[in-house]
Amino acid sequence: MARVAVVGGGIAGLTAAWELARAGVQVDLFEATDRLGGVIAPVTLSGVQVDAGAEAFATRVPAVGEFLADLGLEEQIVSPNPAGAWLQLPEFAAPLPATGILGIPGEPGADDVAAILGAQHAARAAEDLRAPMTWTAGQSPSLGEVVAERMGPAVVEKLVAPITSGVHSADPYDLAVSAAHPQLYRAMLAEGSLATAVSRLRAAAPAGSAVQSLWGGMSTLISALEAQLRDLGVNIHLNTGVSEVQVHRNGVRMGVILADSHLRPGRGEVEAEHLIMAVEGPEVEALLGQESASAARHSAQSGVALVTLLVHAPELDSHPRGTGMLVAPSNENIRAKAMTHISAKWAWAAEALEAKLGPGHHLLRLSYGRVNDSPGALGFGSSDRDLITAAIADLPHLTGAPVAGEQIVDRTVVRWQRGLPGGGAAQRGDAEDLKAALAIQGAEGGPQLAAVGSWFAGTGLAQVIPDARAQARELCVRLAEEGSSLDLRCH
Ligand SMILES: Cc1cc2nc3c(=O)[nH]c(=O)nc-3n(C[C@H](O)[C@H](O)[C@H](O)COP(=O)(O)OP(=O)(O)OC[C@H]3O[C@@H](n4cnc5c(N)ncnc54)[C@H](O)[C@@H]3O)c2cc1C
Repeated sequence: MARVAVVGGGIAGLTAAWELARAGVQVDLFEATDRLGGVIAPVTLSGVQVDAGAEAFATRVPAVGEFLADLGLEEQIVSPNPAGAWLQLPEFAAPLPATGILGIPGEPGADDVAAILGAQHAARAAEDLRAPMTWTAGQSPSLGEVVAERMGPAVVEKLVAPITSGVHSADPYDLAVSAAHPQLYRAMLAEGSLATAVSRLRAAAPAGSAVQSLWGGMSTLISALEAQLRDLGVNIHLNTGVSEVQVHRNGVRMGVILADSHLRPGRGEVEAEHLIMAVEGPEVEALLGQESASAARHSAQSGVALVTLLVHAPELDSHPRGTGMLVAPSNENIRAKAMTHISAKWAWAAEALEAKLGPGHHLLRLSYGRVNDSPGALGFGSSDRDLITAAIADLPHLTGAPVAGEQIVDRTVVRWQRGLPGGGAAQRGDAEDLKAALAIQGAEGGPQLAAVGSWFAGTGLAQVIPDARAQARELCVRLAEEGSSLDLRCH
């Protein structure tokens, strides 16, 4: 019987497994697909490998950097081109204001803010610096509500929505402020002003860029973790989906479905003393055979489709739109919600392109699937052909250069339905309730059942990684206290 089973081999499951295994716990990890990493995955165009999903981590908390250092990867950490991203409004494009968080300006009176909002809306935004604070600690409003009340709806529409839509796949009015940025609301109450809170949090953040990545992309983290997990003796079961979990007094019994394409699909049973579920909330409920309130509510995750284009376009060598473009949802002639100019953002990608294909080549990633799009709109469910046609049409608008379809050297479409759980107040509440119910189980002397991952911790590596580490440590301490014969070294 394995001591701890981890279900799900995304970054949350891998992090928890690593934390336990390095302390000396026997871990078995079950991943339904044929590869580890979940939303952190590679894709290759003309021999150049880039990220197909998550491509960076936020540095506002030191947690991810610390984890990478613990893995011995600190030398590989890279910062993006400081040029930053631009914002596409219906009327014009402009660099994103330099002093913001989630688009919320730290200096509402700055020129780059006025350039986007116009003088009148910028003046309204600046009222935040003087207006009395009416929000209180007991409330849990959405990001949109807070920004609209403090700075005016134009700030939400023009500055915040392009970011939450492009980065979080969420409408700012349906994104709990606590999910978007865990410290922001408390800082605003303490400062009596949203802009001052933004400035203070930015000043307190580590110097340098707001995001970082690894040389070669975030997917190199997965290969490094996989190698270390194998060295630590973790049994990694790929193509092994867990279909049900039965909890009994001394442990859990899991039904597994083996889906190796080379073998006949089969079923089996495994036992473990404790369980970490690194999958989404509705999946946790389904595994436990629970009536799911949240499944129905959250099945509507619309997903995103990412079109990556490799173009030969020397006209992009000057990086006319910085590292990419966030598109305000009100744009009607552009169907993408964001574009990353991968080879402008990451020096390693530009070097790899040049080495493989010579100068003048660029990699651009366009994302489709806006949160408030009508069901038939372009996005996750669209065909590759429709998505690529739209990307070719969007390209000149987004790059500000006349890049045409004939300049495309290679292209690929990747779809993600998971990994961006929305972060609305209802989803956050369901996640808390489910975690509390699982904790009661462990407290009553039964097996410890933990739930990690973005559905519970919030979207993004800066939230997922420290949460998975903390929960794995908690379990380690409990195993040590149980008087295990193993000599555990919980970190
Ligand atoms: C397109 C996109 C871009 C993103 N970009 C960034 C970024 O740049 N920076 C950032 O910080 N965050 C980013 N995010 C968010 C970030 O990727 C996620 O928050 C994080 O990777 C989620 O990790 P996870 O382990 O919780 O889930 P996942 O990565 O979804 O992993 C869950 C794993 O569990 C497996 N699984 C599911 N059910 C079962 C089962 N029953 N049995 C066995 N295995 C199962 C799945 O196959 C999967 O491998 C992005 C998300 C998306 C979708």
